[in-house]
Amino acid sequence: IPIYRIRNFSIIAHVDHGKSTLADRLLEHTGAIKANSGHSQVLDKLQVERERGITVKAQSASIIYKYKEENYLLNLIDTPGHVDFSNEVSRSLSACQGVILLVDANEGVQAQTVANFYLAFGNDLVIVPVLNKIDLKNADPDRVCKQLQTLFDIEPTQVLRISAKLGVGIDDVLEAIIERLPAPKVNRQSAFKALLFDSWYDRYRGVLSLIYIKDGDVNVGDQITYYHTKKSYEVKTLAVLRPQEENVKKLVAGQIGLIGCNMRSSQEAHIGDTIHKINVDIEPLPGFKPARPMVFAGIYPFDQSQHVSLRNAIEKLVLNDSAVTVAVDTSPALGQGWRLGFLGLLHLEVFSQRLQQEYDAEPILTAPSVTYKLKLKETKQTIKQGDVIYVSNPVHFPDYLQIAEYYEPMVIGTIITPDKYLGSVISLCMEKRGVQRNATNIDNDRVMLQFDLPLCEIVLDFHDTLKTISSGYASFDYEDNGYQQTHLVKLQILLNGTPVDELSSIIHSSRVDVIGRKMVSSLKDIIPRQLIQIAIQAVVNGKVIARETLKAYRKDVTAKLYGGDVTRRMKLLAQQTAGKKRMRAIANVSLPREAFIDVLKRS
Ligand code: GDP
Ligand code: MG
Repeated sequence: IPIYRIRNFSIIAHVDHGKSTLADRLLEHTGAIKANSGHSQVLDKLQVERERGITVKAQSASIIYKYKEENYLLNLIDTPGHVDFSNEVSRSLSACQGVILLVDANEGVQAQTVANFYLAFGNDLVIVPVLNKIDLKNADPDRVCKQLQTLFDIEPTQVLRISAKLGVGIDDVLEAIIERLPAPKVNRQSAFKALLFDSWYDRYRGVLSLIYIKDGDVNVGDQITYYHTKKSYEVKTLAVLRPQEENVKKLVAGQIGLIGCNMRSSQEAHIGDTIHKINVDIEPLPGFKPARPMVFAGIYPFDQSQHVSLRNAIEKLVLNDSAVTVAVDTSPALGQGWRLGFLGLLHLEVFSQRLQQEYDAEPILTAPSVTYKLKLKETKQTIKQGDVIYVSNPVHFPDYLQIAEYYEPMVIGTIITPDKYLGSVISLCMEKRGVQRNATNIDNDRVMLQFDLPLCEIVLDFHDTLKTISSGYASFDYEDNGYQQTHLVKLQILLNGTPVDELSSIIHSSRVDVIGRKMVSSLKDIIPRQLIQIAIQAVVNGKVIARETLKAYRKDVTAKLYGGDVTRRMKLLAQQTAGKKRMRAIANVSLPREAFIDVLKRS
């Protein structure tokens, strides 16, 4: 197919607005898959995606569509549905010339619609606005058109109205893609150059990369090089996705396809990398930026006997997700485990959910934390003057006397809410140290708010709280916004004067009193009384800021028996000893593992 009859596009939408349904309908309509094949949502391959209705890994499909007596090649590039994966989204988008901006005609524009619009707009893509679900009784397409006009300057006459579920308006969508999108700007005569925008692991063929061929062509048997890793391979497999794999001998500029070259580790396939022929000088494609983890969590097997199976499960998942970083970590209370880094909260959630599906016991996941940036003072202890270090683990937080400046990661949060919840939404953001950027009325009773927020304030329960205070109507999305100067402290917990490392945390100094008091009082509830009295203290920079005392108490499990049966008495005593084994002793205080888990999950 000549280049002028190729169109590359993505569908972008807020979660549940019908992206997968529309993708399926487009495939059915062009004969790529059979209608009602029983598989709903062919492109959502992973189980998590089906359950949560979000797309995690980008998948693509090439379809042929007849328009004015000519066959067109339409490459649908499925993007992940959430801005946590905005790296992946923008990589996928760089293979496109346009997007379908899909909006639910009942729910209207939501926070992710806005984030996705700006991602596409910023990439200079043609935007085809489409309202979905017009079959719904409560659909109000005119109102949603108005929102699109207010927010994005989109002419209502440009907006298509469809029902992906019922298959209404599908031809209009396909025709709009052909008429409004330009053909890809590629050159088949130049040296081979391709953009890697997704990859996954295949047990038999190693890592498969999804590529967009920008220039030239590539053949099975060619020697190729990945520009940024500088590693070379022989091309073993080439395929197009229809959406099933169909092997081909050659891929040419303008096409999207799969390339396999016996690569053993996904760490060699960096999303955004440029592939070229060995020993040929090329200018790499722009957009290569290694994914940077933003959110960290500790992960431990529930029981050390499950250590190996958990490690295997993590290794398997990381093969498919090179954005996750893994470092070994040990905690005296929880044993051997790992500290994992993620692109964002949803990424963390999706990963741990996949882990639970592949690994039969539930691993222990600690409360997520973020990475702080610290500028050190010029003291003897520091290696270089004005050194900058990144710390996410409180254990590695230096003494405050060594720190000159503190920085924390920030995000720009976008919230769309019905205006009757405006007051509570703003209070919530202020409570989370948010600073309002702007507020826009997007129609008669809906407002879009933008706030600068510290990332650490939204990693725990922000989204859930927002949903609760707005009866589920407010939507939220965020994007990274670099580091901002702040003031942090390390909060330590001491039991009878001995610090408990795994209970320490890095927090904003304004939060110290509240969190310190909360920690000691919940520890008082959780720790069982023991033979000795226990002092529970919260300490910051050597100063005690909160304290509770747990009185001594002898738990006599046999007291309730009247003399009674000796074997029964022995059995109870044995149970008590077994219970003690699962405890960690700190300064003669036994802490049940459950106490740690409880506190670590909440902190
Ligand atoms: P995604 O999260 O954007 O991929 O959304 P899905 O395609 O998974 O759709 C979310 C829900 O909306 C599913 O229950 C679909 O059946 C439903 N849905 C999708 N399109 C339509 C439509 O045109 N009309 C109606 N009534 N429901 C739809
Ligand atoms: Mg979906």
